[in-house]
Formats: sequence, C-alpha cells, structure tokens
Amino acid sequence: MKLIILGIQGSGKGTEGKLIAELYGLKHISTGDLLRKEVIEKTELGKEISSYIDKGNLVPDELINKIFLKNLPKDKFILDGYPRNLSQAEFLEKVNPVEKVIFLELPEQEVYHRLGLRVQCKKCGAIYGLNVKPKKEGICDKCQSILERRKDETPEAIKKRIDLFKKETLPLLKFYKSRVIRINGNQTVEAVFEDIKKLLQ
Ligand code: ADP
Repeated sequence: MKLIILGIQGSGKGTEGKLIAELYGLKHISTGDLLRKEVIEKTELGKEISSYIDKGNLVPDELINKIFLKNLPKDKFILDGYPRNLSQAEFLEKVNPVEKVIFLELPEQEVYHRLGLRVQCKKCGAIYGLNVKPKKEGICDKCQSILERRKDETPEAIKKRIDLFKKETLPLLKFYKSRVIRINGNQTVEAVFEDIKKLLQ
C-alpha cells in the first residue's frame, strides 16, 4: 500500500496518518517532522532549514527531495506533507507513484481555531492540540519536557502557509484525479479514521 495524506494545516494529517500507518503496517513519513528533527538537533542542515520554515516558506524542492528520498521505502508507506507542489508530485511519480491520496477537508475558520491550540515539545518534537491533549498541561507525555508554540505558528507564518497550501498544494487534487479519496476532516479523530477505513477498502 502506497498512500498520501493531504490536507490544509491543522486538518489532522499527522494524527490520522499515524493511525493508518499503525493499522496497515505502513511507514509514516512526515516531512515536517523530518525537518524539525534536523532543527532540534541543531545540525548544519537544521540551521538552513529553520531559515525557511520559521517564516512559513517552503524548503526548496532540491533539498526536500534529497531528505525525502533518503527516508522513502519501496512499498508500505503513507506520506504526510509530501508532495506539496506539482514539481514534487512529478518527482514522486517518477521515483515511486502512489495508489491513493486521502484528502482531509476542513473549513478555513476551523484551521485558525485548531492552530491556535497547537503546541510542540521543545525536546522530542511531539505535537499536541485540539484532539491530542497532554496528560499534564504544558508538559510532554513522552519525555516530560516543556511544550511551546511552534516557531512557524505566528499569525504571519500561519497566513503564509495557508496561502501556499491553496496556491501550491491544492492543484495536486487535479494531478491525482481518480486516486483522490475525499474525507470530511471536521469530525472527531475517531470518526475521520472510520471514514478513511471505509473508503480505503
Ligand atoms: P503544516 O502542514 O502544518 O504547514 P508541516 O509540519 O507539514 O506543517 O511542515 C512544516 C514546514 O516544513 C512547512 O511550512 C515547510 O516549510 C516545511 N516542509 C514540510 N514539507 C515540505 C515539502 N514537501 N516541501 C517543502 N517544504 C516542506
């Protein structure tokens, strides 16, 4: 099974992507997580990456394609955050085309609401928000470190990311045409997961 999970910021790609990966035994590849890992580890590459992502800009295709390919297995994967534009989709189509694209739909006002509640662990990068709350407020369940706002979740960076999504990522729906499965993302985590399972069969 080779899948993409696509959706606007805060639509639940990460949460649902991980559930699908667990159920079907797939590798969940989140390019956002891969990039943030470099930043947290303060590698040379991480410094270059944060100059793009902190402002809400996309990382250049050449750089992201390299990082992405290093992490891509032959089969059994779900991609979250990749491809993000037509040139990345064309690249993926050449190296390893996917079978289905799960598209999580969410109204824009809900995006702002959800992102306003989202925090990230300073140390391990785990993300918490509307549906995934830490057991102790402000503290990561996994490593007990402090939770903070993501650097790219300032109002300016959020606006830029949403604009980029509409301009660069939405056209992928036309590119993938009949491979696209549309899901109402404006429901609980469990209800979205149920819909995905039904429509994937
Ligand atoms: P979101 O979908 O909420 O914007 P992600 O965690 O998927 O967040 O990505 C965070 C940032 O990482 C993006 O704003 C962008 O800068 C960078 N990024 C992630 N995936 C890609 C990609 N495929 N191409 C270019 N930049 C990417």
